[in-house]
Amino acid sequence: MARYTGPVCRLCRRDGTKLFLKGPKCFSDKCPIEKRNFPPGQHGKDRKAKIVGYGLQLREKQKAKRIYFTLESQFRAYYEKATTRSGVTGELLLQQLECRLDNVAYRMGLATSRRQSRQVVRHGHVQVNGRKVNIPSFQVKVGDVIAVREGSKKLVVLETARDFASGQNSVQWLEIDRDAFSARVLALPKREDVNLPVNEQLIVELYSK
Ligand code: SF4
Repeated sequence: MARYTGPVCRLCRRDGTKLFLKGPKCFSDKCPIEKRNFPPGQHGKDRKAKIVGYGLQLREKQKAKRIYFTLESQFRAYYEKATTRSGVTGELLLQQLECRLDNVAYRMGLATSRRQSRQVVRHGHVQVNGRKVNIPSFQVKVGDVIAVREGSKKLVVLETARDFASGQNSVQWLEIDRDAFSARVLALPKREDVNLPVNEQLIVELYSK
């Protein structure tokens, strides 16, 4: 399926929770979830059915996919890989999503949203261990150094993002140098490092049917 390019606030309203897809707006009172927390559409307000079972599992998967901006095929591949590793499958799934280069660029403050960080990576502004990497799904490893290319450091979008990120919580698994636009991966992220409204266990139940 093609990537969704419509208004993203509708996605949050559909799931009834903030997915933080728009950067600063998500933290302001302009966020539509603050004013209209009901599904979008003409009959959105009238929908009162409680979602249970398969519907709930599906919503959790959709939320995670939307937050990390991945396609179904990519997302499923992360799940399949997680099942082949030793550990808790749901946590391993989230770990792979967190280790995507576009997510790391967002976490280290190179963009105000994951969508924007995908652009920053795609446009070749980011390097890993000194080499340009423009693949948003690139998986970072412990010890990797992620940085902005020298010629890109003056970009206004990066400076704006840095200011925004300085007001956000620190990221335990990354050693971030905001002044240098760089970060080092200290450890693989654990579940408690992923402060997002996703129940990964329900996603595992959905895929393991
Ligand atoms: Fe829109 Fe962000 Fe609010 Fe979601 S959290 S509805 S993306 S402003």
